[in-house]
Amino acid sequence: MVSAQSDGKVLVDVQDLKMYFPVTGGILFQRKVADIKAVDGVTFAIKEGETLGLVGESGCGKTTTGRCILQLYKPTAGKVLFEGTDLISLSGGAMRRMRRRMQLIFQDPYGSLNPRMTAGAIVEEPLKVHGLAKGRELKEQASELLRTVGLNPYMADRYPHEFSGGQRQRIGVARALAVRPSFIVCDEPVSALDVSIQAQIINLLGELQEQFHLTYLFIAHDLAVVRHISDRIAVMYLGKIAEVADRKEAYENPLHPYTKALLSAVPIPDPLVEAKRERIILTGDVPSPLNPPPGCSFHPRCPYVMPRCSQVTPELKEVSPGHSVACHLY
Ligand code: SF4
Repeated sequence: MVSAQSDGKVLVDVQDLKMYFPVTGGILFQRKVADIKAVDGVTFAIKEGETLGLVGESGCGKTTTGRCILQLYKPTAGKVLFEGTDLISLSGGAMRRMRRRMQLIFQDPYGSLNPRMTAGAIVEEPLKVHGLAKGRELKEQASELLRTVGLNPYMADRYPHEFSGGQRQRIGVARALAVRPSFIVCDEPVSALDVSIQAQIINLLGELQEQFHLTYLFIAHDLAVVRHISDRIAVMYLGKIAEVADRKEAYENPLHPYTKALLSAVPIPDPLVEAKRERIILTGDVPSPLNPPPGCSFHPRCPYVMPRCSQVTPELKEVSPGHSVACHLY
């Protein structure tokens, strides 16, 4: 992890990213009748060696944002700059070469590993696809990768069902590391695991980050999970960024009512901060991105709602160095 104040070089620069999924209707469903605005104007940057925690309830667009950055979805609009190169404008071949630099760790270590491949073959596959090793060297590199993620290389001949959930996620991490990426989108990598195992995987990701100088976008629905690994936190609500701040600031001085509500569910170890903290308990679900509320999309659930909140969409504004919030209260 870099220090929150470090002036590192920006690795990933996301500018006004939009991902709209068309909803079709009419005869034979050929006519577009609406858009689901899964991501609606998201802007943030991630510095080299940094972890940005991207947090929000299910359906807020955080997974779609991660996939748009990796160009697994073609964004509707906006820019994704990787070391200054706009990924959206790259040709297929150039993007394939670039893809080696950026990897994805999936939420579901059960579903993301091919059940018919051994752990060794799963880790070898990206090395073969990208022509990074063959023959004996391939086996040696796969063994080394398994060792790096805390698995014994003698397990290379076992199939995914012979591993525990935590071990399977370690195989997923080894597969992502195989091509020596600079940037990894960790998409809820511990959500499907027992709480006792979650800390082990988060610690592993932290150690690998230092060892290989990795940059992470760490997606989670819960602020407790991202606290230890993130340098900065971005909170997303219904396709937009509600607040971005350094980790300490986000936990100790949250401004957006939605961030405060998410934090209400997370105990803070410092008793002084805990005593001062405002409690907001959220009611209701996230509204549908097919028909988002006008103005501030959080207004139907916000305890501080004012008349203009339902009419004017608040812009994301920097209110102190490194701390931005999209709310009419600021
Ligand atoms: Fe609440 Fe209004 Fe701020 Fe939205 S803009 S979070 S509704 S106070």
